[in-house]
Amino acid sequence: MIVQCQKCGKDYEPKRRGGKFCSVSCRVVQHQLIKRGEAWGKPASGDERYLADKLVAVGRSATEALVQVEGLPTAEAFSRLRALVQGWAGVANNSIIEKVQYNEQQEMNAQATRMKRIKESK
Ligand SMILES: [Zn+2]
Repeated sequence: MIVQCQKCGKDYEPKRRGGKFCSVSCRVVQHQLIKRGEAWGKPASGDERYLADKLVAVGRSATEALVQVEGLPTAEAFSRLRALVQGWAGVANNSIIEKVQYNEQQEMNAQATRMKRIKESK
């Protein structure tokens, strides 16, 4: 069975079941990134676990919702989907969303700094 390397995206055939990386170097680099907090690892516990579970649930109900509204008049479909999205917003734990937004902001700032450095070095 061919799968995609979770680091470089290359298609490859895993040597063992559950293998996620095409090479030792991809596996090592990915683990270093996760350790430094620069890549999303397997959410172990607490807020990350909660958020990951929530995203899975949102994805599942989105798939179900899209099947249910198929063929409905646009306005009807739209209002049902809107109600669903508002429901998710209400259920979500705000402190976790704030944390994710904060992390995103940090990442954007870091990206801007890197871009600036690249520009300056030219
Ligand atoms: Zn790879």
